[in-house]
Amino acid sequence: MRKLLFSFLFLFFCFSAQAEFINIGVFASKKVNSFEFSVRAGKYALFSESGKIKEIDSKASLTIKYVDGFVEVKENGKAIGKYRKVNLMGVGWYNHFMVKSTNPVGLERRFDDNLKIVAQRNKMQLINNLDLDNYVAGVVEAEVGRKPPKEYFKLQAIICRTYALSNTEKHIVEGYNLCDEVHCQAYHGKTFFNNIVEAAMQTRGAVIVDSDIQLITAAFHSSCGGQTVNSEDVWSKSLYYLRSVKDTFCLKHKDATWQKEIDKNQWKNYLTARLPNTISEQQYMNLNLNERLKYFPQSKLSFEELRGQFRLRSTYFNIQETENKVLLKGRGFGHGVGLCQIGAMEMAALGYNYSEILHFYYSGVHIIDLSALDFFKED
Ligand SMILES: [Zn+2]
Ligand SMILES: [Zn+2]
Repeated sequence: MRKLLFSFLFLFFCFSAQAEFINIGVFASKKVNSFEFSVRAGKYALFSESGKIKEIDSKASLTIKYVDGFVEVKENGKAIGKYRKVNLMGVGWYNHFMVKSTNPVGLERRFDDNLKIVAQRNKMQLINNLDLDNYVAGVVEAEVGRKPPKEYFKLQAIICRTYALSNTEKHIVEGYNLCDEVHCQAYHGKTFFNNIVEAAMQTRGAVIVDSDIQLITAAFHSSCGGQTVNSEDVWSKSLYYLRSVKDTFCLKHKDATWQKEIDKNQWKNYLTARLPNTISEQQYMNLNLNERLKYFPQSKLSFEELRGQFRLRSTYFNIQETENKVLLKGRGFGHGVGLCQIGAMEMAALGYNYSEILHFYYSGVHIIDLSALDFFKED
């Protein structure tokens, strides 16, 4: 039955034709009090709550300013009006625009699709309303840059899309779905890098779900150092698809290992306070591990706690005593749960496709199209 179900889903998986839109709070932590808006492609029209105000000349420069609880709009220096809320809607086939802040000076970003500007008590909020896949492309570039192989961009796009759709309520009280910072996902506006735009479009609508057809927590980290971590070893929640896997793909990378020296007394004081006294100094000053463990051997002291306390790059390390220091020799970077980015990039460079890579790091998941997800929701 399951098998039948998934072949059925597969039929659905011909990528959604229908566009999904998402609202992103941009310049989220910056208080933009005035900016210039210019059309870079397509056509735009200005709307307020009471309807269309006017079309915007593609050569015009709009100045938008926060004045005493209102959004004031001027075109080429001439006042158009003051509103609580305005919407600059792309009305051409392919629309993008630029925002250049004048207070504070110097922020400059380009965005796809539409811009909503809402006057709040002492500031205005800029909301980029855009096609989900345009957003996904922007996030992929902000999160991983332009260097990874093209196949890698596809799986990162699927991860970012899955994250976005399972977090649409995160900023709902502020009037948008997600912010543009790492709190949600880094997003610096439109990407102009073709490989990323194509990766987002070629995986249009694809998301990762678990066996109950729920969007997964698509956790990822920089590098696992040879073995990923069970979700419950870092967070309290155990998720069946976030299992520890042995990963040899990331081992050769230059960032695969790290070292850190810690003052011997500082280490000793912390560990003696946290470990049972059956563990000798010799044991906590010297430790050799062949695999990742959740706890320091024979104790309740988690490696996650040590990572936080001593600001370590990962929870996977050996300990070696030197004259007046302890030397930690570690592997990997990040929490270690889910997909290892360095390993996944290496797999992509070796010719594995995005689906093989996702299934390697997330056990027992399915990649389906959004329309299939909606279908099961309605069920
Ligand atoms: Zn956020
Ligand atoms: Zn790895």
